Formats: sequence, structure tokens, C-alpha cells
Amino acid sequence: MATTSCDVAIVGAGLGGCFLALLLGRRGQRVVVIEQGPSVPSAGADFLKPPGQRVLARHGLADLVERHGLRRDTIRYYHDGDPIRECRFPDGGFLIRPYRELVELIYTSCAMEGVEFWFGTSIDDIAIGDGQVEELTLSDGRTLKAGVVIGADGTKSAVRRALDIEQQTMPYERLLMRVATVPLTASVAQLNRLYFSSEGWLAYLYPLNRDQARVFVGLPPEDDKEIFQDGIPVLIDTLKRFVTDSSDAFNALQPATWQRIKVSSLRVAAYHKGNAALLGSAAFACHPMTGMGMSYTLHDAEILADVICTAGGDQDLLDRLLYARYEPRRHAHRELIDYGDALAATFRDRAAYLGAFRPDLHVYGDAAAPEEVPALQPI
Ligand SMILES: Cc1cc2nc3c(=O)[nH]c(=O)nc-3n(C[C@H](O)[C@H](O)[C@H](O)COP(=O)(O)OP(=O)(O)OC[C@H]3O[C@@H](n4cnc5c(N)ncnc54)[C@H](O)[C@@H]3O)c2cc1C
Repeated sequence: MATTSCDVAIVGAGLGGCFLALLLGRRGQRVVVIEQGPSVPSAGADFLKPPGQRVLARHGLADLVERHGLRRDTIRYYHDGDPIRECRFPDGGFLIRPYRELVELIYTSCAMEGVEFWFGTSIDDIAIGDGQVEELTLSDGRTLKAGVVIGADGTKSAVRRALDIEQQTMPYERLLMRVATVPLTASVAQLNRLYFSSEGWLAYLYPLNRDQARVFVGLPPEDDKEIFQDGIPVLIDTLKRFVTDSSDAFNALQPATWQRIKVSSLRVAAYHKGNAALLGSAAFACHPMTGMGMSYTLHDAEILADVICTAGGDQDLLDRLLYARYEPRRHAHRELIDYGDALAATFRDRAAYLGAFRPDLHVYGDAAAPEEVPALQPI
């Protein structure tokens, strides 16, 4: 089979890969995106917080993304059934939009920029010579030569493995997560409510659209078998102990399909090597309680697009720009990962959780300007 050449090869068509492809395509780069699945990923995050919305707005995508999304501006926190605090998001709040829909919108915009997507194929081999990625061999036998290679291929990144970049994955072992999509009820339509219990449980209920709601349940691993394999009625009895203002949703929980989600944090030793760089969950992962992974990934893609276009095919300049402008993102990511760790470690203890909660990071991430820092509101 013939070898294809392009300016940038992106492995992974998630939010990070698709958004970077769009930015590069708009600036005249020839981009090929390689995705192992048959289409863009079907499951993932639901919340786009203010920093991510601002990135999309800078690139003229705010209206497009907003059109079918749901706006919310408050999350109410409970502990052992008592409301303890509210986090209010100023300036229009945050956006709820299922991950697949969000990524699909960006993917669709890529078509106008001439970005090529190769679905249903993955990386078999990455040839590296002289510190640079020289060629990608795909599982369908095709080969690809690219000036720049981006690993936007998730937490188990094949690109990261090929570059021999060390990583540290830390599963949140004390908190198993389950998620279900259920019919929307009045209490969930009214407010996003996040419940914690001193027994190590959490429940988060929020609307997805005008008809459906999402329910996340977190629980100690030793309770999972009893609850999810032996009997959902036990789930409802346990939720009744600390979910006080959402009981109208209980009836919908029993017939629901509960999907198990593995959640880990991920830190890596470097974000690039030569002409290859990591983006999104290939580079960092934090606890979903921060709700910020997509926002940081969108900003990272913006930086990468700028670096790649400024380097204009000069490999030495690319390497230097990645060091100077992209590698420092590790500090912001580390702060976010530590924050997610702190939330996950403290939520059983009301005072400790409130002490760990940072409204600045929660609402604006590392993009907070001092005058924007909101307060946690007492109820
Ligand atoms: C449970 C959960 C909830 C979350 N909630 C939120 C939230 O509400 N708000 C928020 O901002 N962030 C949230 N996040 C984080 C957010 O999901 C990530 O930051 C974001 O999805 C990163 O996008 P990505 O493009 O790096 O990765 P992904 O979406 O994981 O995309 C990676 C893509 O690479 C493909 N791929 C993998 N290996 C290969 C290969 N070898 N060859 C070809 N293709 C490959 C995969 O099929 C996939 O399509 C959440 C994360 C989790 C786990």
C-alpha cells in the first residue's frame, strides 16, 4: 500500500484530537486523524465549564455548541443529607452537553477544513529515528509520514508507549463509579445536586436535556457486588439515607442500566519528544469531580496548534517551542490532578471537603483572573 504524507498526524478522534485537527485545518495544515473506533467516541464527559466555553468562543464555536446544550449555574452540595454549600457559576454558568454530541459538532466542522479522518484503524508500529517519529504503520496496513505526530489517544496512549514516556496511573480504588441515564424528574430539572455520605458514598443527579437525567453513584468497592450485582432495591435503600431532596428520581433507578466507569489519575514524565506530543487524557487525567478535563484539553490544543503553525515544519524550532510553551502546562495539570485527589480523599468528611474545595479552580480552572474568584455560598 502507498504511504500517505501529511503535515500533522493525530491519533485519536476524541475532543482533544478533533479540536486540534480543526484549528490546524483552518490554518492550512494537511491533517490526518486516525481513530480506532468506527466514529468519534460515544461516551465521556457532560460538563463544559467557563474556561472551555471561552476557548470555543475564541474560535467562533460558542453558538454552535450552545444550540442544543443546557445551561446551569448552580451545584448544591449535601453531606449526610444536609445541604452544606452551593457553588454558583457567574456569567451564564456551565454547559451540559453529552460528550459524543460535543465531539461530533467539532468533527463535523473539520470536514470544511479538509481534515481527513481514518476510522476503524489503529497504530501497529511507530518508527522512531534520530529522536523523531518517522513513520506510522496502521493496523489496516496503511503507512503515514507526518511532520508532527500527536498522541490524543486517551489514557492508554499507544503514542506515549512508543515514545517511551514514563507514566503513573493511580486508580481511585476507594470509590467505584456507576452511571445511568434515566427519565428527568422535577427535582433534577430544578437543580444539580451532589450528595456525599460519611460512609464513602456519593450521588450526583443532573439533567441531560429536557427529557433525560444522568445519575452518578460512587461507592466503596466492597459495597458494589451487593448493590449492583445482587439487587438494585438495596441501592435505593442506601441512597435514602443521604439523598434527601431528589427522592422523586428513585423510581427510575431500579430499571436503569448501570454502567461501571473506571476512574484513575494519570501523570506523565514529559509531554513531547522530538516531533511528537501528547494531548488530553494521553497527557493527564484528573478525578471527574473537578469537571475540568475538557476545558484544559481545549486550551492545550490551542497552544499546540499555535506552536505547530509557528514552527512551520522546522523540527528544531518545533522542539524548542514545545519545551517553552507546551511542557509548562504540566504545572497547571498537576495542580488540577492534586485538586481532584483532594476532593476524592475528603468527601466523607464535611469539614475536610469544604476545606479542600477551591471555588477558583472549580469554576475557572487555571484561567481564573483574581477578580473572578467566586465564593462557596452558604445555604
Ligand atoms: C467519568 C468521567 C467524567 C468526566 N467528566 C468530565 C466533565 O464533566 N467535564 C470535563 O471537562 N471533563 C470531564 N472528564 C474528562 C474528559 O472526559 C477528558 O478530559 C476528555 O475526554 C479528554 O479528551 P481526549 O480527546 O484526550 O480523550 P478521549 O475522548 O479518551 O479520546 C481518545 C480517542 O483515542 C482513540 N484511541 C485510543 N487508542 C487509539 C489507537 N491506538 N489508535 C487510534 N485511536 C485510538 C479512542 O478510541 C478515543 O476515541 C471526565 C472524565 C471521566 C473519566
